[in-house]
Amino acid sequence: MSFNVSVGLVDSGVKKGEDSYQLVIAGGGPAALSAALYAARYGIKHVVLESWKPGGQAALTAEIENYPGFSLIAGSDLTDAMKKQALQAGAVFHMETVETAVEKNDKILVKTDSAEYTTDYLIIATGAAPATLGVPGESKYYGRGVSFCATCDAPFFKNKRAIVVGGGDSAVKEALHLTHVVSELGLVHRRDKLRAEPFLATKLIEHKKVATYWNSHLAEVVGDDMGVTGVVLDTPEGKKHIDTDGVFLYVGTIPATEPFVSLVELDKKKAVLTRNIVGTSNPRVFAAGDVTNNGFRQVVTAVSEGARASAAVFDLIQNEE
Ligand code: NAP
Repeated sequence: MSFNVSVGLVDSGVKKGEDSYQLVIAGGGPAALSAALYAARYGIKHVVLESWKPGGQAALTAEIENYPGFSLIAGSDLTDAMKKQALQAGAVFHMETVETAVEKNDKILVKTDSAEYTTDYLIIATGAAPATLGVPGESKYYGRGVSFCATCDAPFFKNKRAIVVGGGDSAVKEALHLTHVVSELGLVHRRDKLRAEPFLATKLIEHKKVATYWNSHLAEVVGDDMGVTGVVLDTPEGKKHIDTDGVFLYVGTIPATEPFVSLVELDKKKAVLTRNIVGTSNPRVFAAGDVTNNGFRQVVTAVSEGARASAAVFDLIQNEE
């Protein structure tokens, strides 16, 4: 088998969908970027289908403090650097969203919103999307006070009030980011203990702008023609109305596995069930990062899994020769 290596910063010479690939990498976050770097360096004929939000969830994280080598770096700076390095190694990116992936004649056929690709191997690194609560007002006021991204929307809340719902790392990190701009911040959590890293959790709870609402659920988002004006909480003392200008939801994530349901086994939460870290129920398909059931969802584990997945594909290609 000959390798058709793509070299160059942007134009690889490989036209969309015209050819058969050895590897398609679906996703654009750290797992996919790392898989792309390794695939390019291994000389695997590949394409990365990165969708419309390069960098994935990590790029929407204001500050990352636990990626080795960086005491503090903006998520988007880290993922930009990863992409630049992958491009320099010869990685090929197409800004397309994968819609379906199915087996066809011993290959995998990947359909996107604008092209089709045939590939020997697939790495699923599509990450996870924010979960919603489905309470009244949540979707009505989305973009008008309801947000899933404090990093993106914080500037709209300068000297205003905001509520953050959730108790995990995302809620706490993004709430801390909001404390730099808002006048008051409410943290609403369904238990009386945060799940987030204790160092940051303590910093948030002790912050002078922060009021905590423990054992409480968001029951409703209320507003007017201009947007959100408040929330109704279910608290241990009963229903409580709080005036606020913004509601940021961080109540977990849903793995982006819909296009791959016929290819690989999923767990109950729709994450790709892995074996030996990056293997799946399908020998031609590997998975890396937040889309998997691997559990520890960190940038550092995502990049490690992306590298392992491309290395596994390289081993298989070599054994076929
Ligand atoms: P998460 O860890 O799953 O936390 C979700 C939070 O939402 C939990 O506190 C959960 O409450 C709460 N929740 C879930 N369903 C709810 C509901 N129906 N109503 C009210 N609250 C609800 O999600 P995440 O914070 O987005 O993090 C996802 C993964 O990424 C985690 O593994 C996390 O460690 C990782 N991450 C890491 C970093 C980092 O810098 N290290 C940053 C962001 C994310 P309970 O606590 O009661 O379950």
